[in-house]
Amino acid sequence: MLALEGITHRYRDGSTVSLPTWQGGSGEHWAIIGPSGSGKSTFLHILAGLLRPAAGRIVVGDQELHRMGERALDRFRGRHIGLVFQTLHLVAALTVTDNLRLARYFADLPRDDTRIRTVLGRLDIDELADQYPHRLSQGQAQRVAIARALVNEPLAILAAEPTSALDDRNCRQVMALLTEQARESGASLIVATHDGRVREYMEHTLELAPGTSEAHHA
Ligand code: ADP
Ligand code: MG
Repeated sequence: MLALEGITHRYRDGSTVSLPTWQGGSGEHWAIIGPSGSGKSTFLHILAGLLRPAAGRIVVGDQELHRMGERALDRFRGRHIGLVFQTLHLVAALTVTDNLRLARYFADLPRDDTRIRTVLGRLDIDELADQYPHRLSQGQAQRVAIARALVNEPLAILAAEPTSALDDRNCRQVMALLTEQARESGASLIVATHDGRVREYMEHTLELAPGTSEAHHA
């Protein structure tokens, strides 16, 4: 189960964003769709425990994230949440395999190179195992990012704008990858995007209305 209830986030400049109460069942696929400024990034960052809201409840699996301390939250995220964020770069000095080993290490999981080979194989990028990030094409880097999100068998995969830069064919390919991989691992899939094409690939849609936020200036 995933849930956000009565969430209000206050950014440092004092502006506040309120999110609609939302519940997703385990294994469900959700598109979180809205125009720029409607709160998609805030939604994902709060669900991932990367932002701490001023008010409200965050539930992932059987845990209440709003009650957890920073360290517990970091460990929980590493272990149970797979992030596919464009700004979450791979470590440049490490090969693809070592980047995936690192994801397991940060989650306090034992080294498991069989698991890593399995995930790379499922994404059809076995041949990139010993490659360094700067040698990857954009499409390959996106597959590696998905592999890294999957390697710890997360409860939920959270993806931010995975298709915005892609033509229809590549959009279909990436959405097929995400939905198939989520289904195979039994993970919930949450895709936040302004890209309306994503609707047709997802079972459920939450529409975020423009202007859910209020600016407060002193
Ligand atoms: P989206 O991802 O849909 O574009 P965001 O979650 O980024 O929406 O933003 C929602 C609202 O919060 C917007 O009004 C935006 O201006 C505001 N906001 C987002 N990030 C910050 C920030 N770091 N500081 C102040 N306001 C922010
Ligand atoms: Mg955004």
